[in-house]
Amino acid sequence: MSGKDIDEKVREELGEWYDSKILDSWKLLKIYRIREALPCQNKSDLRQVSRSPEEREGLFLAGDYLEIASLSGALRSGRLAANTVVKRLVP
Ligand SMILES: Cc1cc2nc3c(=O)[nH]c(=O)nc-3n(C[C@H](O)[C@H](O)[C@H](O)COP(=O)(O)OP(=O)(O)OC[C@H]3O[C@@H](n4cnc5c(N)ncnc54)[C@H](O)[C@@H]3O)c2cc1C
Repeated sequence: MSGKDIDEKVREELGEWYDSKILDSWKLLKIYRIREALPCQNKSDLRQVSRSPEEREGLFLAGDYLEIASLSGALRSGRLAANTVVKRLVP
């Protein structure tokens, strides 16, 4: 995607939140292309992975790698791990 295309796409998406006067006042300073910043996620990958957070007795895992690689996936995974810990600890 060219820098111009990225600029247009970002403005289009931010246009859903901000008034066009505000958007027009912003100018593009720089684009950073960060290689391998995120794992490749195809549409078919974007489903919740149902994996138990308890790796083995007493070891609980959490993180986006257990879910969709996103903040919401990381949060969901953290909540699931916390709930599992509570269930184990609270008789
Ligand atoms: C450039 C970029 C842009 C992104 N943009 C978005 C976005 O717009 N929306 C979105 O939803 N998600 C986005 N993400 C993804 C989102 O940031 C991650 O999915 C989320 O932060 C994962 O949270 P996590 O807690 O699983 O892992 P992390 O946030 O990676 O936390 C893991 C932590 O463990 C620490 N750690 C690693 N190894 C060790 C060790 N051996 N001992 C102790 N500590 C260790 C690390 O330092 C780190 O602090 C983006 C990610 C990147 C890189």
